[in-house]
Amino acid sequence: EPILDIRGLTKTYRNGVTALDGVDLQIRKGEIFALLGPNGAGKTTLIGAICGLVRPSGGTICAFGEDLSKSWRTARRRIGLVPQEMGLDIFDLVERNVAYSRGMFGCAPDAGRIEEVLRSLSLWDKRKERIKDLSGGMKRRVLIAKALAHDPDLLFLDEPTAGVDVGLRRDMWRQIEALRQRGTTIILTTHYIEEAEEMADRVGVISNGRILLVDDKDTIMARL
Ligand code: ADP
Ligand code: ADP
Repeated sequence: EPILDIRGLTKTYRNGVTALDGVDLQIRKGEIFALLGPNGAGKTTLIGAICGLVRPSGGTICAFGEDLSKSWRTARRRIGLVPQEMGLDIFDLVERNVAYSRGMFGCAPDAGRIEEVLRSLSLWDKRKERIKDLSGGMKRRVLIAKALAHDPDLLFLDEPTAGVDVGLRRDMWRQIEALRQRGTTIILTTHYIEEAEEMADRVGVISNGRILLVDDKDTIMARL
C-alpha cells in the first residue's frame, strides 16, 4: 500500500489559473521521489495541497491509508515540509527555532528529540547561535531541522537547492540521503534534471499541472 495516494487532484486558483489538472500519484514507503518540472508546472501547488497550505478544488489525497480531508489533524503530525522561502526567526537561537516548530505541528515539547535532530544535522554546536549569524548552508540545515522536529514519516522539500552553489548542493544531497537511510519517505521538487538524477529512486515529470511520466529514475533519464 502506498504511503501517499493522490487521485484526480485539481486546483484552480481564484484568478482562474489551473495549477493542477487531474494529478494521480502514488508514493512508496521509504523512497526518494523527485517531482521534476519547469517553473510554473504546479510543483509547489501540489506540495501545498498535500501539506494543507492549498485547498484542492477536486480529487482526493490519502496519506498513511487515510483520507486527508477527514484525518488532517493526525496526518499533519506525520508530515514535514522544508519550504522554498526561509521561514526562520533570524533574531532567535537555532534551538528555539527548531523547538518552536514542533508546536506548529501540534506536538508536545521534547528536548530529547530536538537534541537528536540538531546532532544529526551537525547543528548541536551552533544551537545557542542566532540564525542571522549563520552561513547560508547552516541556515538551510536549520530549515531541515525545523521540518524534522516532530519526526515526520513523510518529508517534502520544495526546491531544496534552488539558487545555492555546488558545494552546498552536495551537502544538501548528503543530508537528504541520510534522512532516507533513517527510514523517512522523501518527496522533493526540482527543476534540475541533475538533482533528480543524483537523488531520486523514482521521478515524476510534471508540466502544466499534469504528470506526464512516472518511472524509475534510469528509465526517465533515458527518455529525457
Ligand atoms: P485559494 O483559491 O486557495 O483561496 P487564492 O486564489 O485566494 O487561493 O490565492 C491565494 C493568494 O495567492 C492570494 O493572496 C493571491 O493574491 C496570491 N496569488 C495570486 N496569484 C499568484 C501567483 N501567480 N503566484 C503566487 N501567489 C499568487
Ligand atoms: P511550480 O512550483 O512548479 O513553479 P506553482 O505551483 O508555483 O508551480 O504554480 C503553478 C501555476 O499556478 C503558475 O501558473 C502560478 O503562477 C500559479 N499560482 C501559484 N500560486 C498561485 C496563487 N496563490 N494564486 C494564483 N495562482 C497561483
